[in-house]
Amino acid sequence: MTGCREATVETGDAPSFIAAYKKNRMRFRLQYYRTVPLILLPAFICMGFTRNACGDPRTATGKAPALSAAGLPDTIRKDGITLVFADGSAGMDVRQKQELIRTFFRNYPLFIKTFNPKAARTVHFKIDSGYTGVAYADAGKGSVCYSAGYLRKHPQDVDVVTHEIMHIIQNYPSGPGWITEGIADYVRHVYGVNNAAAGWALRSPRPETSYTNGYGDAARFFVWLELRVKKGIVKKLNAAMRSGRYTDRFWIKETHKDIDSLWADYMLQPEL
Ligand SMILES: [Zn+2]
Repeated sequence: MTGCREATVETGDAPSFIAAYKKNRMRFRLQYYRTVPLILLPAFICMGFTRNACGDPRTATGKAPALSAAGLPDTIRKDGITLVFADGSAGMDVRQKQELIRTFFRNYPLFIKTFNPKAARTVHFKIDSGYTGVAYADAGKGSVCYSAGYLRKHPQDVDVVTHEIMHIIQNYPSGPGWITEGIADYVRHVYGVNNAAAGWALRSPRPETSYTNGYGDAARFFVWLELRVKKGIVKKLNAAMRSGRYTDRFWIKETHKDIDSLWADYMLQPEL
């Protein structure tokens, strides 16, 4: 659970790989061995917590959610963006629900503008009382499943929304999982609305830390890169990932150093 908590779980990357495979079998074959282990590892670590309602692909869909225990899903529209919110729990705290919705409408349009103007305009949220992880996104279907139990125990953690909706914005066709998760936590750090109250913060690296951990470890590295090496590099990295043409040469092209040299520099002086 701790690993999942810190990771802010999602399993949405696997379907993207299947789509990429169908689209370009040769390219996929070339990239597969480089990227699959990194992408699937965090997903599988946390999937042990997801084998139930929300983890079932038949229910974790982008289709209009069925009637939930608490009644019909709410459909909220604002400036061309639609959020379909299905509370499948016994009824979550109304104020908390409002905060999740408010966080969505504050950040999602901003992320569209900043990271992917073509991102889905309709997003589905499902609160699931049978799901025992934290949350996960199905980027291809524009849906996020949240654990009702987790939200009940962590009422301040509204930025679980910020992290997960970034995955819908990303919807990367391929690429290393550490970058996907690192960028999602990077935007949580930059655009989060309640991180401090939720007790969420990026941590300084320990000697054994690696960027390949993704999540907060990679996110803090990205913050450092923005400050110390090249402003705007995260947006460029996101664009490379969106294109499906990311390779490790990205770092040399943008910084004249390879990723491991950059990481070594960071570990020597990781202050922000
Ligand atoms: Zn994630």
